[in-house]
Amino acid sequence: MAEQKQKQAKSVKKYSPKKACPKCGPGVRLAEHSDRRACGKCGYFEKK
Ligand SMILES: [Zn+2]
Repeated sequence: MAEQKQKQAKSVKKYSPKKACPKCGPGVRLAEHSDRRACGKCGYFEKK
């Protein structure tokens, strides 16, 4: 069990680069879901 200190990336999110919401603008990013991206602000979502 000595193989745990390999990952040094701290809070690196392994999401792909997030897309901005086309309605809310570049400041609001879409949340990644398994089959779609959704905006938590205006409710916009798009299928993958
Ligand atoms: Zn939005």
